Amino acid sequence: MADIHSFESLAAVDGEGIRFDIFFTGCPLKCVYCHNPDTRFGSGKDYTAEEVFNKAKRFKPYFRNGGGVTFSGGEPLLNAEFINELAPMLESENIGCCIDTSGSVKLNDSVKKAIDGADMVILDLKFHNPESYKKYTGGEFENFIETGDYCTKTGKRLWLRTVIVPGINDTKEDIDRYALLAKRFNFEKYELLPFHTMGFFKYENLGIENPLEGTPPLSPEKLTELRDYLNSII
Ligand code: SF4
Repeated sequence: MADIHSFESLAAVDGEGIRFDIFFTGCPLKCVYCHNPDTRFGSGKDYTAEEVFNKAKRFKPYFRNGGGVTFSGGEPLLNAEFINELAPMLESENIGCCIDTSGSVKLNDSVKKAIDGADMVILDLKFHNPESYKKYTGGEFENFIETGDYCTKTGKRLWLRTVIVPGINDTKEDIDRYALLAKRFNFEKYELLPFHTMGFFKYENLGIENPLEGTPPLSPEKLTELRDYLNSII
């Protein structure tokens, strides 16, 4: 069984083609820019692997052109054993899966098996050094590095993502450091995403502190400038 926050059918991000996203609850991190803080807490809605399989299977006709299931969250790899139960069921229907992870879970045998069974991994490259990683996520940089290295060593298709937050990691020097770090991995794509404030209301609803209260969204101009710069150096 796994506690699942929600499902999103016919999603167009978080992997190739049309996706069926599964948002697990629970996360070892507390990223200051988290726009889904509600997924960090249990929803009380438990599902068996078979129940989730039956839900995903209904969307199979839409999974042409590389689409499939995306395990997201929260942190999906906290549920590696559940994923390892579900992935073979999906495979029996020729439905591929992608893991959208922060790489924050220690790389144990279950986590390795979940990665091995996925078609691809989307890995958050949150901060480019251990100190900032700790300061802004509360997590261990080493776990992220081990996850990225494992994907590279095993030849897993890998996309990288970084959320750019005004005043925290939005300089060209930051992008230089991100690019340097990214180059240790064998990735297909590296995407910068803009910090936005659309999830702020969730902090209020949950009654928890919003660490970035008052921080403006990243402007489209700044995002374009940094994306162009990144593309010029990787
Ligand atoms: S890893 Fe994702 S869900 Fe977890 S705290 Fe960070 S942004 Fe939020």
